[in-house]
This record gives sequence, structure tokens and C-alpha cells, in this order.
Amino acid sequence: MTLSTDDRYAWSVGIHGGAGAMRSMSPDRERAYRVGLGDAAREAGALLDAGSSAIEAVTRAVSVMERSGSFNAGLGSCLNRDGALEADAATMWGADRSIGALAAAPALANAVTIAEAIRTRSPHCLLAGDGALRFAADHGLPIERLDPPPPERLQRYHQLLASLGGDTPRRAEGLTRLGGTHDDGDTVGAVALDRDGHLAVAVSTGGVWLKQPGRVGDSPLPGSGFWAEDGLGATAATGTGEFIIRAQLCIDVIHRMRGGASVADAASGALLSLEALFGADKAGLIAIDHRGRMAFPFHTQGMGRAALWDGASAPRVAVWPEDGLTRVD
Ligand code: ASP
Repeated sequence: MTLSTDDRYAWSVGIHGGAGAMRSMSPDRERAYRVGLGDAAREAGALLDAGSSAIEAVTRAVSVMERSGSFNAGLGSCLNRDGALEADAATMWGADRSIGALAAAPALANAVTIAEAIRTRSPHCLLAGDGALRFAADHGLPIERLDPPPPERLQRYHQLLASLGGDTPRRAEGLTRLGGTHDDGDTVGAVALDRDGHLAVAVSTGGVWLKQPGRVGDSPLPGSGFWAEDGLGATAATGTGEFIIRAQLCIDVIHRMRGGASVADAASGALLSLEALFGADKAGLIAIDHRGRMAFPFHTQGMGRAALWDGASAPRVAVWPEDGLTRVD
């Protein structure tokens, strides 16, 4: 992991596939999860190596994960209390702080592509509910819908409902509050630095299992679930959105970097501050600085993560703490 001649990586990319209580993942599921993380990093890395922008690379990485079905985004999304998908997603370009985000978009499987179009083709930062779909239709964008959700997701939905027994809404609310439903592939995010020194971030999620319809998590909220700022850093969060929002996790990382902290210290400091407020086992994040150095702290059982940079022959992929990959210096 050595830096290139001008003391920065020519390009680098970091990916996460969600943080949570994932020890119950089956070996097959873990294998598919790792493959998805590696594929996303490889596709983003190929774009960056060929000179594409960081925003193209992170959007592609997230789109690959939406299509894989192994993550809580796109085809693999978790479902709300009514058994329906409502997607949250966002992109941010560090060069001009432009943001495209959508929240609680019904049955939308290619959410990050629409978020990126909102960034580039709308005067707004965030569109909610049907508004995101109407925007996409008005602009002739391809809308991939998951209506009804895939049978495997519906089966899991019914299993979860059965395990909750009676009084489902109240129990589901409790589970959400505790972050207790994160036991398989989770929300996805990517951060990147490109050859021109620009930074970008993209995220996508189905949110949390059995969420109240209309619930919006941290993922489409700037400063909570993501941020990117050229010359400084880019970051994306994962975990229980309600705590991430209340901690303003991503902007905390950025403020710490602005104050002179290294990306690794800023990222772990912000996570520790969330932990001091709300306890452990809530969140994780990925962060990158303007030189392409990266950090991947989490205090959950696991967090799927992958990294690739100029000069590395293949992505590094990790899930558990013992896998290493806590930072790329
Ligand atoms: N942060 C996401 C949310 O609360 C969930 C996750 O990261 O898995 O919507």
C-alpha cells in the first residue's frame, strides 16, 4: 500500500455492504456477499483507472450491488411493514457539492441511477415518494420496479412477521429502534477519489426491515448518511439510521478532518462519539481523504467492505473484524 509519486494515490475506491449483526449469515450467503463487494470495487476501479470521474465510479459500484441481490438495496432490499420496498438513495459530487437524493421511493430497484439523474438534471437535492418516480418518468429514465418484491424477500418478510407474533407494529418499531433486524446483507455505499483529485459518494438502501411506511433513514440525508467535499474527504454511513441521523455521523467525520484529523482518526472519532451517545452495535462507515487514504471503522458484528486503489492488483474484501482492512494508508 504505497502512495504514488505526488504523495497521493492516483485513484482509490472504498465500498461498504452494510454494518450489522451478521454472524448468522449462511456460508453461501457470505460467499455471495463477498463476491458482490469485490465485483463492485473491481468495476469502479476499472472506471477510475480508465480516467472516469469519481461520481461515475461510485454510482456504478452502488448500481452493481443493487443488481446483485446480496445486499439491502435494489433487488435484495428489505421490505417495510406492508411487505413493500421503499428505497432511499443519494449521490454527491465533491467538486461542487451537488447532491441528488430520493427518499421512500416506492418499489424502485435502480434507485442510485435515479438519484444521480436528480443530481445532474433537476434543480433539487432530494425528491420523496412518488415524486422521485414522476421525475424519472418525466425525463424518460429507465425505471426498474420491484412490484411485487422477489419471492425470497417476501418469504423473509413473512418469517420476520411470524417471529414477532402479535402486535406487529409495536414490536417492529422496537426492533427498528434497536437496530435488531440487520442480520444479512445491508445498505450499500461507495466513496472514491479520481485521477483529477475529485471526490464522490453514492449510497442506496431498502432501509430497515418492517419499517413504518414512509420512514426515511440516514442514507438520503446529507451530513447523516453521506458527504463529499473536494480537498477534504468523502464518507458514507451504515447501521441504524435513527442513531446516525441524531449523531450527524458523516458531517462529524468531515468536521474532524477539516480540523486536521487524519481520515482514520476522524472516522473512528465520529463513530466513538455516536457510541458515547447511543451505545455500541449501531453503525459503521467508510471514509476517504483527498489523497485516497481510506478508513473502515464499525462497532457492529461485521461490516462488508472492499477497497481498491491505483497499484493494487485486486480488491481487498473483508466482512469481520478479524479480516483486517480497517484502513488503507
Ligand atoms: N442506515 C440504513 C437505514 O437506517 C440501514 C443500513 O445501513 O443497513 O436506513
